[in-house]
Amino acid sequence: MIIHLDKAITREQRAALQLLLKTEGVSFGELKPSDGGTILARSRPGLNVQPIADLPGVAGVEPDKTNFKLVGRGEHPDDTIVKIGPVAIGGERLAVIAGPCAIESREQAFTIAREVRRYGAVIFRAGAFKPRSSPYSFQGMGEDGLRILADVREEFGLPVVSEITSPAYADLMVKYVDMLQIGARNMQNFELLKCVGRLGMPVMLKRGLAATIEEWLMSAEYIMAEGNDQIVICERGIRTYEPYTRNTLDLSAIPIMKNLTHLPIIIDPSHATGIREKVAPMARAAIAAGADGLMIEVHHDPGRAMSDGPQALFPKQFGRLMRDLYVIAPVVDKQVDFGYLEKAALVTPAAGAGGAETPRAAFQGEVGVSDHKAILQYFGDEVAPAPLRTYRAVFDAVRDGEADYGMIPLERATSGSVHENYDLLLDHDLRIVGEITLRIELTLATRPEVEPDAVRRVVSSPTVFHHCDQFLQSHPDWERVYAEDAATAAALVERKEGGADAALTTPEAAALHGLALRERNVETDPRNYTRFVVIAKTPRSHGPRRKSSLIYRTADRPGALFETLKVFTENDVNLVKLESRPVSGRPWEYMFYVDIEADAESVEFASILKAIAEHTDYLKVLGAY
Ligand code: PEP
Ligand code: MN
Repeated sequence: MIIHLDKAITREQRAALQLLLKTEGVSFGELKPSDGGTILARSRPGLNVQPIADLPGVAGVEPDKTNFKLVGRGEHPDDTIVKIGPVAIGGERLAVIAGPCAIESREQAFTIAREVRRYGAVIFRAGAFKPRSSPYSFQGMGEDGLRILADVREEFGLPVVSEITSPAYADLMVKYVDMLQIGARNMQNFELLKCVGRLGMPVMLKRGLAATIEEWLMSAEYIMAEGNDQIVICERGIRTYEPYTRNTLDLSAIPIMKNLTHLPIIIDPSHATGIREKVAPMARAAIAAGADGLMIEVHHDPGRAMSDGPQALFPKQFGRLMRDLYVIAPVVDKQVDFGYLEKAALVTPAAGAGGAETPRAAFQGEVGVSDHKAILQYFGDEVAPAPLRTYRAVFDAVRDGEADYGMIPLERATSGSVHENYDLLLDHDLRIVGEITLRIELTLATRPEVEPDAVRRVVSSPTVFHHCDQFLQSHPDWERVYAEDAATAAALVERKEGGADAALTTPEAAALHGLALRERNVETDPRNYTRFVVIAKTPRSHGPRRKSSLIYRTADRPGALFETLKVFTENDVNLVKLESRPVSGRPWEYMFYVDIEADAESVEFASILKAIAEHTDYLKVLGAY
């Protein structure tokens, strides 16, 4: 709904409105301190807007249009996560779907599946029934093609998606694929929409060639009205007057859809542009704009592809794009996970030995801290997060088998290594089995009734105060109250304990504790990244191992460190970190912490380790991941 404010609204009236919206469970955009204006708010089902309209200072309320009751945010404020086998679309991790336009042969499908899987795709796509503009073009392999798709899933563990072009094929499709695609040309084939709605399987609904956003959502509504909410919407370009590209990619559909619907949205830059060179830039832009995933056409021999060759990426180009996305994703609070499918197999309870319980992942702090978020982004929601008070407790829990994994910060972009954890790694015989980088956003939050101007005392952890020093300098009169971590700070403010009026905390912790966000992104450096690692008792058994961490102490003779580094150079091993730490109790002796881009636990690496060991009197491989 849209709430129109009086020009002369007072601060008290604004506070009262805010409080009412909060208590009614209505989420809304930030209230600007300037007088007047409008507020966009997400109403909830059955909400009576009259008390809001009656408040002094409110000029009027425009209720939501409810054309799309089921797919709209109004009835369903939380994001829907669509599960396709082990893959979640709409969660913390990006889902990249890749494959050829059409299945052409078993060999073609297997070759491409192997490549896209290797580079990080989590779902395989290929058409078996192709809706072509010309009846004389290749129409797809039909059921033979579907059989090959099912074999791809079997061989590579990739869920598969393929287009359904008619309700007549429903039984056939259900037998072979994990997700049904509704193509652009069929977006308003209402019988087909009702049919996939009744099938209850995950559906990818592409935007029609000339469909408005509302028409597109109404088509989703058809599917959901049959009781199926497992819908992913896919923007694939719309028909405009512009001939330089096959279609015109409407990237603004991403933020618009994020606002209007709870369904996840992915982008298909292949059909949108129709031109190989334009696919990667649009894919990067889509992720930066907040898309939940991508669908990309890839072919090992596009020159001979039977359809859409000119827009297909070569596998290596796809690999490069995935590496770029890996870097871009944390900026927008998402992750590319190169070990996604392997990890899923690891954490699915049914897949564990004897149907073991849900694995536990320990972290320091309270629910809502960045460490907790790192767990959600690394594992999805298929592990049970276990909050503990100290880092040592996290290490001990993993060592003693009380937790299967631990998530610990090792390096902060703004303040360097977390030495405590490096020391604990030395103390405990645990392995690093994974890493994840998170951008840490910090916010000033208060109880809803406390006005920002009234803040006198602010609570947070020493690390967070350090990250926000510039913001705090502009409030020299604020007294600081110390808490163990950012989420505890939010909890204290919520319970009015410790006397602080505001917390410096993460947006997640603030939301969890019902606090209002007063000032966002108060961290001094927008590149406020923290690198976390996952620790476990046994070496990594899931996904590729591209990187390793080692610790060693060199023998006490001239050039010893240089000799170890020479081994890396001679073997073409890229060093990505080298740091020294004093050895406790042995003044002027140093331990070296080294990260390399290689699998130090592989058989091939054994001889390199041996060569390094010759120049060290202590050497430990912390893990390969
Ligand atoms: C496809 O994905 O291969 C396809 C035919 O897409 P669209 O329906 O978007 O044209
Ligand atoms: Mn195609």
